[in-house]
Amino acid sequence: MADNQNQVKCRQCGGTLMFAPGTTSLQCEFCGAMNEIDKSNWDYAGMATKHNFLADISDLPETETEVVHSVKCNCCGAQTTFSSNVHSANCDFCGSPITVGGDASSKRIKPQGVIPFKVTQEEGRNKFASWIKGLWFAPGDLVNKASMESGLTGMYIPYWLYYVDTVTRYTGKRGEYYYTEKQVKQADGTMKTEKEQHTRWHPTSGTVYKNFKDLIISGSNTLGSEGDNLKKKFKFEGMVPYNEQILSGYKSETYSVDLKEAYKEAQDIMEREIKDAIKEEIGGDKQEIESKQTTENNIEYKHILAPLWISAFRYEGKSYRFMINGQTGDLSGSRPYSKAKIAIFIASIVAVITLLILLLK
Ligand SMILES: [Zn+2]
Ligand SMILES: [Zn+2]
Repeated sequence: MADNQNQVKCRQCGGTLMFAPGTTSLQCEFCGAMNEIDKSNWDYAGMATKHNFLADISDLPETETEVVHSVKCNCCGAQTTFSSNVHSANCDFCGSPITVGGDASSKRIKPQGVIPFKVTQEEGRNKFASWIKGLWFAPGDLVNKASMESGLTGMYIPYWLYYVDTVTRYTGKRGEYYYTEKQVKQADGTMKTEKEQHTRWHPTSGTVYKNFKDLIISGSNTLGSEGDNLKKKFKFEGMVPYNEQILSGYKSETYSVDLKEAYKEAQDIMEREIKDAIKEEIGGDKQEIESKQTTENNIEYKHILAPLWISAFRYEGKSYRFMINGQTGDLSGSRPYSKAKIAIFIASIVAVITLLILLLK
């Protein structure tokens, strides 16, 4: 991909185009003209190609891979692709200054699907402004600093979706409660009959079949647990086949957690769900799994990009981040606290309590 990978020119004036959220058009930044995207393959259902997991990147056809030029932040490790109409001197994920020294280019698996932006930048900015204004105990100069230092950047984040059919054979025990009665001496010396609970165990074994679909795993670690909350909200029905035009005017992060590494995380999630399924099948009041062996079949995956509005800012030497799911509008953010404001608040509570005590005396 070239530097201007994510751009095409306006049909009316030759200006730079940006994908208009919620539409199927690119809007010109100069004359405002809407340029309709070629939608001949807009329908995702029509392109349900999933890759076989076992195929290595070198086994994939040339059309399914791309050479990506990206800049890496030395502070948080985020790797983003740069396009000539979207500049930033600071890292979009942590707010640290970025020095662009020789770009790193690497061969990557090409995304197959994209969830386009639905939330516009203006809607995003309004949400950011009201979030930051609404923060309790925020330092007074935060509003200015945060909005001055960083705008809101539209960023496509890499994810892996996995599809796996699993068969698990297990052995275990089903526990069923039964009750006996016993006599208990009361404080006043009388006797009372009480029920006592016991568990009777029955050995059991069986096979559980579970098919996993659209199991979403992050393709990078830059967003941490906040990113995990936002990713759960994505709706895959809104996905369209990968199309560079949809990326026009936005940045994209390159995956740094590769296919096989991310799969380990998927396996952990599957294992938890399989355990739950076994317990449900065992039934009874209590369950114990003694052994289980899972076979994974038909492992397939898709590499997709999903939209996020992100603002990273540094405040007194620390990084903070505000994010909006670009499809659903859900927010997530980390924020600084003003020690002075909290101290004043605590001091005033102490003062009120002291005053009350004095008045009540
Ligand atoms: Zn134009
Ligand atoms: Zn960074």
